Amino acid sequence: MSDTGNEIQSKDFIRTIIDEDLASGRYDKVHTRFPPEPNGYLHIGHAKAICLNFGIAKDYNGMCNLRMDDTNPAKESMEYVEAIKDNIRWLGFDWEDRLYFASDNYEKLYELAVKLIKMGKAFVCDLTADQIREYRGTLTEPGKNSPFRERTVEENLDLFEKMRNGEFEDGSRVLRAKIDMTSPNLNMRDPVLYRVLRANHYRTGDKWKIYPMYDWTHGSCDSFEGITHSICTLEFEDHRPLYEWFLQTLGLYMPRQVEFARLNLTYTVMSKRKLLTLVNEKAVTGWDDPRMPTLSGLRRRGFTPASIRDFCSRIGVSKVNSVVDYAFLEFCLREDLNKTANRVMAVLDPLKVVIENYPDDLVEYMDAENNPEDPNAGTRKIPFTKELFIERDDFMIDPPKKYFRLSPGKEIRLKNGYYIKCVDYKTDADGKVVEVICSYDPATKGGWSEDGRMVKGTSHWVSASKGIKIEVRLYDKLFLKPDPEVVGENERFTDFINPDSIKILSDCIAEPSLAEAKAGDNFQFLRQGYFVADKDGTKEKPVFNRSVGLKDSWAKTQSKNQ
Ligand code: ATP
Ligand code: MG
Repeated sequence: MSDTGNEIQSKDFIRTIIDEDLASGRYDKVHTRFPPEPNGYLHIGHAKAICLNFGIAKDYNGMCNLRMDDTNPAKESMEYVEAIKDNIRWLGFDWEDRLYFASDNYEKLYELAVKLIKMGKAFVCDLTADQIREYRGTLTEPGKNSPFRERTVEENLDLFEKMRNGEFEDGSRVLRAKIDMTSPNLNMRDPVLYRVLRANHYRTGDKWKIYPMYDWTHGSCDSFEGITHSICTLEFEDHRPLYEWFLQTLGLYMPRQVEFARLNLTYTVMSKRKLLTLVNEKAVTGWDDPRMPTLSGLRRRGFTPASIRDFCSRIGVSKVNSVVDYAFLEFCLREDLNKTANRVMAVLDPLKVVIENYPDDLVEYMDAENNPEDPNAGTRKIPFTKELFIERDDFMIDPPKKYFRLSPGKEIRLKNGYYIKCVDYKTDADGKVVEVICSYDPATKGGWSEDGRMVKGTSHWVSASKGIKIEVRLYDKLFLKPDPEVVGENERFTDFINPDSIKILSDCIAEPSLAEAKAGDNFQFLRQGYFVADKDGTKEKPVFNRSVGLKDSWAKTQSKNQ
């Protein structure tokens, strides 16, 4: 597969299947859905499924529903529903008026279960969870029929109603489909349809004392909504016969289930359970911590919707599980920000420079280009003054060869400023440089010498009196190893959290234009990387998160491997 931007040029296998289904007349339209369970925030893996489902609907002039797959009262909440909606809209997709909740179908599902009982295709079973597992058999051994399998329809109807009425203890009885305990597919060995659970649900409150199982609910909801292609991840391949059995047995409309490989990324975890553990154990500050692979986290890290859509398009879809290099996600972000982010100057580790021959109170406003990649981005003015800050590592008293930055007697360019030459420096009692004294050449305004004299080094800088204080948060990988989900016997994935995944620099200084930055605004800090304004910032002290460095480690390793 090859692509250059947001559009996939060659068709993936799912689109090929859809083409065939349209050609054969199996379906005359395309209707997909994205079905999250509101038990956590969406992550980058979900973005793959969102881009796929909404993307296919768009390509085929079809529709894509958003459905909350909410069958587990213990773990779901409205906070998650709202976050999911917000994330999907942010990614750039729209379900219009088609937001559905599986829980809205509980009554309908109950009636269908009653129908199955009446057909002799479902029974109430009193085995314990452990016994059910024991009776199920294994991949190599057939299962055994439950001793409750031959209950009469009347008895089953009576017990199922009592289950609904809350007359039994949690976990004491289940409703099971009557399929085939000897089936080579374990999912077909009389799967559970309902469990007794007298818990409060975030939408239905205490109305229900029984809750439907995922397989039973999911396929039915797909059918109710008229979904044509029910796209899910590979682990559901073995559930497909059950999906079809339910709908066929009940004579319901049948969507086609198609499975694709889920996205895995290096140096992170991608199950909501594990992400919740990180939040609960305070390994991160919340679901939207900029180190989290959640969409809220990536957004706060500075990822743009376009970069994530581009990533999902470039990784494509396949039937084979694989792991994508985290650096590739960063590559896609860099590609986007290079085109769109304004360049600004900020000094992360400030060292004072005093220009001895520059007038004390003069402020000159220098022209600076906002984005050399975007001719429409315009220019802005940056104040130049006698006292400035440069980056501490842009000066060395005793530099090695090939050090082209500032050092005694050497001249450099201040970007958009002047040429300056180091004439002296001051150190503190420990020998640490505290001030660099320079002279400037008035004939080099804008950073270009009228006599054509060249300098090798160019530094970024900020006016000491006009610059603003900012806090900068440098983020690194959340995990030390590429596969934190692979753990030894006495290990947990949290053992591999990178203790240096965040470094806070609280005394940085930036050009005054950054005072106007709003949370979510992206910038390139010249020579430092891409940064985004964070919601923790205040007017007095804006906060910026490093989204990604300038260096492209991904493209480099790729070319090495070729
Ligand atoms: P998790 O294991 O992270 O909790 P899940 O599958 O239980 O994921 P759901 O809310 O059920 O989470 O997922 C909604 C949809 O997103 C499903 O159709 C699922 O197949 C898809 N999805 C989940 N994780 C990934 C992933 N890593 N890559 C691609 N699609 C995914
Ligand atoms: Mg799921």
